[in-house]
Amino acid sequence: MRWSGQAIGAERGDALPGLESNSGLVRSVTAPEFAGVTFHEVLAKSALNRVPAANGSGTYGWTINPYRGCSHACVYCFARPTHTYLEFDGGADFDQQIVVKTNVADVLRRELRRPSWDRHPVALGTNTDPYQRAEGRYRLMPGVIRALAESGTPFSILTKGTLLRRDLPVLVEAARSVPVDLAMSIAVYDDELQQQVEPGTPTTAARLATVRAIRDAGLECSVFLMPVLPFITDTRAHLDDAIGRAADAGASSVMYSALHLRPGVKPWWFSWLDRTRPDLVARYRSMYLDNTYAPTDYRRWLAERVRPILRDHGLGFGRVDPATGSMGFSDRQAHLVPTAEPAHAGTAPAITNGYRVPVSLDEQSRPTSSPLKRADPDWDRRAGAPRTAAGQAVPTLF
Ligand code: SF4
Repeated sequence: MRWSGQAIGAERGDALPGLESNSGLVRSVTAPEFAGVTFHEVLAKSALNRVPAANGSGTYGWTINPYRGCSHACVYCFARPTHTYLEFDGGADFDQQIVVKTNVADVLRRELRRPSWDRHPVALGTNTDPYQRAEGRYRLMPGVIRALAESGTPFSILTKGTLLRRDLPVLVEAARSVPVDLAMSIAVYDDELQQQVEPGTPTTAARLATVRAIRDAGLECSVFLMPVLPFITDTRAHLDDAIGRAADAGASSVMYSALHLRPGVKPWWFSWLDRTRPDLVARYRSMYLDNTYAPTDYRRWLAERVRPILRDHGLGFGRVDPATGSMGFSDRQAHLVPTAEPAHAGTAPAITNGYRVPVSLDEQSRPTSSPLKRADPDWDRRAGAPRTAAGQAVPTLF
């Protein structure tokens, strides 16, 4: 690990935000109830991270990440490459070597007291999950939530962690003084697959129950149906089941997007795919080998599949902050696109944990120019979908 054995007080310009000095490492510990996981407790120098919008608009957002690494261990996680800055790898180390900013709430309070703080909305959960299992041990979030609310700062939380239920009274209290937007990330509604692709996460049923608990507490809660995994979770049956169960749980809105794979994530994803679905490796290579995002024709196909299902279940489409990838904060009803209109219209590209959030189809990554894709016999460009084994344009897996 980069900071072990280093001189106390040595500054590192290449460290992650809030960890610029390796003197912040207090100790590394293990606990019997977290088999295989090591917690690296650090004293962070900062809590608020300023992030520019990914759409080139010049706007920005603010995020807080109490943890680095995430024991939820989603194979597709967008944040995996960030762990390499600490000389961990983006695979098992990301899942098991968890950096804990034990003083994050105290540092945050100090930063929020600055006269220059403009109470810009702050997003949690856009890089690593603030309600991963470690939060049960460290209980950092109640202090963070209270600090934000007492300073008059709106905030959002995106999580896969059912541990959020513990903090519902604190969140309800916070919502009396500032806008609070909550979203539960639930991408896979097949239990066996969910355990394969997100092995450290609570079950889908437990997360849906958390959505219900949030709504029963009187707060809004969106469901992030992300990432949709091409040829795996994009069947009509799976999407209908997913959106129907989100609606039944009381979700305020649903956001969806196809898988995106940053270069640092691809080795882990393809390793998993090769072990579990070798039949899909060629198709994924054709889609992602030279691209981070799914091809436009695939995303267009996905949008056309999802929109009527959303409409059938009476759900709108949430708005996303272009800088943080969290829920937006303007008038809540304005976030809901009438279901008769294109679900993606007007939204901007942004990055959130593990995937690309929905964007205008015109703004999404261009169709790949990869020779592999052009040559891919399984991909029918005219149909915008893979071919069946029989060469037909309507794919068997859809
Ligand atoms: S996608 Fe989210 S929940 Fe999953 S490992 Fe990454 S940060 Fe954790």
